[in-house]
Amino acid sequence: MQKKDQSPGFATLCIHGKKHLDKHVGERPIRAVSTPIFQSSTFAFENVDHGAAVFRGEDASYVYTRLGNPTQAALETEMAYLEKGEAALALASGMAAATTAVLTCCRSGDHIVAGDTLYGGTHQLFTQTLPRLGIEVTEVPAQDPRNFERAITKKTRLVYLETPANPTLVLTDIAAVAEIARRKGMPVLVDNTFCTPYLQNPLELGADIVLHSATKYIGGHGDTVAGILVGKADWMMQARMEILRDVGGCISPFNAWLLLRGLKTLPVRMDRHMENAMEIAHFLGYHPKVTEVIYPGLKTHPQHALARRQQRGFGGMISFMVAGGREAGKVVMDNVQLCTLAVSLGDVDTLIEHPASMTHSTYSEQDLVKVGIDPGMVRLSVGLENVEDIIADLRQALTLI
Ligand SMILES: *Cc1c(COP(=O)(O)O)cnc(C)c1O
Repeated sequence: MQKKDQSPGFATLCIHGKKHLDKHVGERPIRAVSTPIFQSSTFAFENVDHGAAVFRGEDASYVYTRLGNPTQAALETEMAYLEKGEAALALASGMAAATTAVLTCCRSGDHIVAGDTLYGGTHQLFTQTLPRLGIEVTEVPAQDPRNFERAITKKTRLVYLETPANPTLVLTDIAAVAEIARRKGMPVLVDNTFCTPYLQNPLELGADIVLHSATKYIGGHGDTVAGILVGKADWMMQARMEILRDVGGCISPFNAWLLLRGLKTLPVRMDRHMENAMEIAHFLGYHPKVTEVIYPGLKTHPQHALARRQQRGFGGMISFMVAGGREAGKVVMDNVQLCTLAVSLGDVDTLIEHPASMTHSTYSEQDLVKVGIDPGMVRLSVGLENVEDIIADLRQALTLI
């Protein structure tokens, strides 16, 4: 991606955005180029008065890793930079981030309006767990921003979007929904997991909170479960000091470090994910046994124009359907050899899975149909292997149908 001005570009920020963490061990100062892992649960006070000042909020020293840790802080600073937000909060998982965000915005009696195609775990949180706490969620078709306007009530405290959505790759017009929400005086959260800050900055489009399952492209190597929120500094302080402190979904310093390491190569990886995905989408599009390919980069995608306007690229996720429906899709998934049959996404490895029986098994049969998750749909998270090898693998599996 070409830079337009003199400010540091995205790749430069990914590598140099963090300041070196100065640390003294004995007499010698250390300015480690790779952020040190502060694998410490607690941090010493100089004396009782110092500890008391910290607890009164008059001194910003670290206290305890559930509330903050220098390695976590380095990751938060970096993510706030990349998402163009004031502050960030790193958490133990994408779901910890979702719960923390929802509980920061809502209490019993409140209401959330969300898009109707969501990560399966988020749908489960919204339809099973939040109602038990007295928080109701209305899920609406996300293609038309007016659906959000119609569903907002006096009790609504949050609008929750996922774009592109998992696994239908339906997009939501973030700016249009943000405009509606601003008029009604409520925040908009965008799950930006599929795009990463490299391809989309929801805060610049008017959203208030960005959520990432950092397990996916941010970490990028299939070795870490983590989540991140980015938004306003005062909201983030409330999320940290009320919900994170009490609910406890903190990230380990080691996992924060793995994400810092993943971030260094994020733009390089995303470029290759997208290059491979475009080639595979074309291959599938021309394959006689494939009945439908869903990829926002294809002109056949019903929201291709919105994808061009809102995103700086089309991502690495493809969904497709094969002739013969669910059974035929099963043949493909059971017979790939290079692609790995696994949930999760955004890894260097190509992952293939069946949303209806795996990631989206939390949706009822009727809801799957309603939101457009065909029982035969196959989801592909395109990895970084040589694209000819991925295509050869898919081709041999498709011939077995
Ligand atoms: C995986 C995922 C989540 C949940 O994140 P975890 O890190 O698995 O808890 C949320 N949203 C999207 C879009 C995801 O893909």
